[in-house]
Amino acid sequence: MIIIKSQHEIDIMRKAGEITAITLEKIREVISPGVTTGDLDRIAEEYIRSRGAIPSFKGYAGMPGAMKFPASICASVNNEVVHGIPGPRRLEEGDIISIDVGVFFNGYHGDAARTYPVGKISEKAEKLIRVTEESFFEGIKHAVEGKRIVDISGAIQRYVEKHGFSVVRDYVGHGIGREMHEAPQVPNYRTRERGPRLQKGITLAVEPMVNEGSYKVKILDNKWTVVTADGSLSAHYENTIVITEGEPKILTIL
Ligand code: MG
Repeated sequence: MIIIKSQHEIDIMRKAGEITAITLEKIREVISPGVTTGDLDRIAEEYIRSRGAIPSFKGYAGMPGAMKFPASICASVNNEVVHGIPGPRRLEEGDIISIDVGVFFNGYHGDAARTYPVGKISEKAEKLIRVTEESFFEGIKHAVEGKRIVDISGAIQRYVEKHGFSVVRDYVGHGIGREMHEAPQVPNYRTRERGPRLQKGITLAVEPMVNEGSYKVKILDNKWTVVTADGSLSAHYENTIVITEGEPKILTIL
């Protein structure tokens, strides 16, 4: 069931979104060769808690048999698609890193992701990051009352594939609110089902995950980290948005 949010709820979600956006900004500022993904996690957790919020991902239950997610952010480097676990890994010049942040504030979640370069990166990696971000904005042109989820999905897929990359099928965007993952699912590729019609007050996390090579992925032995099956690079870009009668409002961009 899709939960339509009231203006009051959207106001709280904007606050959660603002904390999410600032957290990403703080992480972006310190990313450089030599920094560990664990350092980034500490910076994020400290800031989120300083705002009276809670990192949504910490302690999140994964697939059966997996440990609870042990960190406040997901930090996915190079061929890692999503759900990378922060730790002692040191970033190196030329890496790309996707940071996913979830913030729980006053009963509501904000969720956003960015992919950042570490120092100087290849042209191909730069293009992958740019196309992934642009595909989000292509998708949300269709995030308007009266259209359907599939309109968003199709636009993202078309844009990504036009540029020679592929969209991950196994993980999708989602509704968001009191729960981090609510209905409906928001795939980044065209599905046979058209999905529900969009209406004012629906809040969504739209999050293209784009691979340089094949869209196929696999999961590491830690039961969390998703990597590209062919070892190619992957990028991620996500914002929490709210459907209105006109253009969607983006809650996780300052
Ligand atoms: Mg998400």
